[in-house]
Amino acid sequence: MPYPKRYIGRKGKAWIKARRKTGKFFYENQIERCENCYSTFGTGNAHRFKRIDIKTEEELLTTVLLCTACHFKADNEMSREEMKEFLDSIIAGRDERYWQPC
Ligand SMILES: [Zn+2]
Repeated sequence: MPYPKRYIGRKGKAWIKARRKTGKFFYENQIERCENCYSTFGTGNAHRFKRIDIKTEEELLTTVLLCTACHFKADNEMSREEMKEFLDSIIAGRDERYWQPC
């Protein structure tokens, strides 16, 4: 379902802000490689839900660092449930001491 243009603009801005926070988190915890396969190729924030399903700031800030290949796999080769389980299992495997959303 398409959103009015104005709404996308606001969402886009929120995402840029969130990326700054998650980037800081990855940097401070020295997460520099894909958290699934440890590749360094094209790493970026992967969310547990499809962009359209993300409604809260908490969801926006809950990300896993994935390389291009793993991100593509999660986005395109997994169902929504599988993608969420996949990312949840990575987050659950982190040392709980350092996991803070922002
Ligand atoms: Zn990977």
